[in-house]
Amino acid sequence: MPMRPSLQAVHAGVCYLDKVEKLKASFETGKTRSIEWRRNQLLALKRLLEENQHDLLAALKSDLGKCETEAVVSEQGFLLSDIDHTLKHLAKWMQVRKVSTPLVAWPGKSFQQPEPLGTVLIMGAWNYPLQLLLAPYVAALAAGNCAVLKPSELAEDTSALIARLIPQYMDTTCVEVVEGGKDESTALLACQWDHIFYTGGEAVGKIVMTAAARHLTPVTLELGGKSPCYVDKNTNLKTTARRLVWGKWMNAGQTCIAPDYVLVESGFEHKLIDAIKKELKSQYSKDPLNSRDYGNIINHRHFSRLQRYLEDVNVIYGGQVDPERPAMAPTLVLEPAENSALMSDEIFGPILPIITVASVDHAIRFINARPKPLALYAFSDDDNVLDHIIANTSSGSVCTNDTMLFMTNPELPFGGVGNSGMGQYHGQAGFDTFSHIKTVMKRGFALDVPFRYAPFSKLKLAL
Ligand code: NAD
Repeated sequence: MPMRPSLQAVHAGVCYLDKVEKLKASFETGKTRSIEWRRNQLLALKRLLEENQHDLLAALKSDLGKCETEAVVSEQGFLLSDIDHTLKHLAKWMQVRKVSTPLVAWPGKSFQQPEPLGTVLIMGAWNYPLQLLLAPYVAALAAGNCAVLKPSELAEDTSALIARLIPQYMDTTCVEVVEGGKDESTALLACQWDHIFYTGGEAVGKIVMTAAARHLTPVTLELGGKSPCYVDKNTNLKTTARRLVWGKWMNAGQTCIAPDYVLVESGFEHKLIDAIKKELKSQYSKDPLNSRDYGNIINHRHFSRLQRYLEDVNVIYGGQVDPERPAMAPTLVLEPAENSALMSDEIFGPILPIITVASVDHAIRFINARPKPLALYAFSDDDNVLDHIIANTSSGSVCTNDTMLFMTNPELPFGGVGNSGMGQYHGQAGFDTFSHIKTVMKRGFALDVPFRYAPFSKLKLAL
């Protein structure tokens, strides 16, 4: 039965029911279920990423000022490894997962059989506009789904390039790219999906979940929040500072898992601050705004937001800006008030607040008094301290003695908890997110024990 546009599905004159219907019809043909189709599509996406490297890096440079190395490591190259890992394991992930069968159901076999969900909506964010749109797409393809990809409108050039390239490489009966902002997203969200995978902020996350509830559509929400970093006084100071600087200032701090603020034992803060300053100079030079390795702020609205965070706080390093680009130098703030905007909002930019705490338990109380973060970092030479933090806090992920490196392991599912999101992806977790893991019990006709059938008698019970 063709769908009729409902009032909600037409938003500001925009309606996508035809596109969604086309994808659903393709899914119904069963073509996406075979391993050949999935493999071919993953290989086509790989070709897209390899053959258009130059244009992709140029778009990322134009949208975010990303330097080539960073763009390869965190976006194009990340996706290529993701595709290779998926191709390597796809056949195994698609297999039935056998489980034991209780005596009462003998003879019989029990297993779990992954099946594609159908037609899914993937909404990306602007900070890693390639990776965050296409990594879920890799998982959706592997699981045998049709998809609509909605790139973030804030990363304009990357969005336009994806919209141009996807139809050139992929099976266009099974994928659509929809560009646009709030109106287009609202019209998309009004359609009925088999899954919605959203990456972005909490406020829109709630809009997505509310829209999904209308159709009882399952959602994955990859959100953000303030990811803390604890630094113990017993730590390898140089490496701590180096890895902290790497994780905080990659993409000018616009990373959902960047350390948002640092908690450091009182008395040790000045040593840490000196080490961070030294590392900043070494990685981005004394003039970071002119370093070709240092990124832009996505737009003037976010630039102004970041500038406002620096009002009425103690800026101890950085703070220089280039309003043209726009860009802000790596900036350190010491002891901001707990109720300041800097310590209430997710910073999502190149400002690092440093806050002293009396002990590791004080740091744990500080972290636990706030919404559950997406990532949590802890630096210490003492394994007991690290284990104590892991055991007594809750976050999407933890990485000790490093920052964002855990993202390189496809065996580690990635996602938030509480306010930082729900659901996971990367590696098999992504395949499972876009699959329904159907349970099957296969029985034959042998051994039909009569006890379970009525009429029941005392004799039967006694037996
Ligand atoms: P964004 O503005 O790019 O929005 C994300 C998506 O939501 C876009 O596709 C956009 O078109 C859509 N959208 C925007 N407003 C909408 C509305 N009113 N109704 C419907 N759809 C709408 O991204 P953002 O929210 O600025 O992203 C930043 C946030 O994302 C941060 O909180 C960050 O931590 C989080 N983030 C999380 C991850 C993760 O993997 N968990 C990754 C990157 C970013």
